[in-house]
Amino acid sequence: MRGVAAQAGAVRRAARTALAGLVAGLALLTVAVPAAATTAVPAALVDSTIDEVAAALEQDPVIVEEVMGNGDAAGAHDRLREVIDGSDVPIYVVLGSTPRGLSQSDPANDLAVRLRSRLGDGIFFIALTSGPPRHEAWGVPEATQFSIAVYDAYPRARDLAFPDVDWNNDSSESRPRGLSDVADAQIAATIAAGGAPWGITDDALDEIATAPWAPLPEELPRSYDEATPGGRWVVGTAVGLSVLLVGLRLLLWATASREPRRRVPASASAVLAPTRLDLADLVERANQDATRLARELADAPSSPYADSAVGYRTAAEAVLRDLDDLSSPEDKARYGRQLRDAVGALVLAKAGRHELGRAGKPGTERYVPCFFDPLHGRAFHAVSDPGRRSVDVPACRRCSEALSSGGTPRALIFPPVRRRQLRPYYEENTVWARTGYGALDGQLWATVTAERAGVDR
Ligand SMILES: [Zn+2]
Repeated sequence: MRGVAAQAGAVRRAARTALAGLVAGLALLTVAVPAAATTAVPAALVDSTIDEVAAALEQDPVIVEEVMGNGDAAGAHDRLREVIDGSDVPIYVVLGSTPRGLSQSDPANDLAVRLRSRLGDGIFFIALTSGPPRHEAWGVPEATQFSIAVYDAYPRARDLAFPDVDWNNDSSESRPRGLSDVADAQIAATIAAGGAPWGITDDALDEIATAPWAPLPEELPRSYDEATPGGRWVVGTAVGLSVLLVGLRLLLWATASREPRRRVPASASAVLAPTRLDLADLVERANQDATRLARELADAPSSPYADSAVGYRTAAEAVLRDLDDLSSPEDKARYGRQLRDAVGALVLAKAGRHELGRAGKPGTERYVPCFFDPLHGRAFHAVSDPGRRSVDVPACRRCSEALSSGGTPRALIFPPVRRRQLRPYYEENTVWARTGYGALDGQLWATVTAERAGVDR
């Protein structure tokens, strides 16, 4: 039973971490509400339904609102029309404020999926005032090659526009802000209109990259979130609420215990060994699942599950982008951070694919990983410490059997950076610890996205 006591203490410490999250969540709530309430609403798309946007695109396949026009919306519209008119496949471009009712984390992708179900196959380029811009192609040969061609052209255009800038090493404050969404749209539309094999010549790219309307001026906000209701703050509010719910549940449990806290007994430390993990393997598996998720999403009909799967995809891809450049185990701090993130990306991608599978299967639960180690897979049991029934921790079959027989579940333990005591991941101060990699948080994607927005912007 000593193992159980040790785990109970550990879980209680995780509860305290979650309580810290609760306080932070409440702070976010108080900041978020006035910020959203006092800003002005931009006209047009934000007040439109998806059906209205689709109807407008049937009349004119290019929509450029002033807010995304980089100073010359009418000119951008005409240049885009010039490129796409006469194309063999339908091409649609939407640059504007975010319509209501779309996934908060990836509204552009969500809009593309919904427009395609109304307008049929084609190539869509969508950049909205919140979330990342997206290009999607359906019903065209080698759609993946189209996507690769666009992603390949963006950095080439950036280098042509700013030949003196070292984007990898110059600090983000001193370097220019890059190319506008109008320029990216022009590049994607040019590639789309050219047909397969997809690509763009250096000359055509140079003409776009060096045009006066291409660079994003310093004085325009890069992200319009602050000026747009429905942007980052609303995500923050949603996260605050989910943290609140989890926090309250854990608070009830933590305060129910009157037992003095115990240190991990020496005999229990025998099971506290770092979990064997292979960073490259984890990242590869996460990439595979994220790719499968993207493919499945492209064919998925609109549903709340698809919306949530889009959120998981966006979060997984954002985490994976930072795992492009893997560090060596000798760089302990960075390697450790990447290990934690790689596990997170894998869980996010798996949870997203699971969400899609829930559509049309009423009663299917969300993806809940084993709290003790998400790499154990899905949890099917709620484990509670005897005598304290107010909190349940989801656990896999093995972990719940270990607990019920008086043993200690094998928790996920990352290699320690210095000679600090080894500890389970859920005692650390990370978003993964606070959420139990989704075991304690039903909206892991939203929490991770909001956390990253706070860190990266
Ligand atoms: Zn387990």
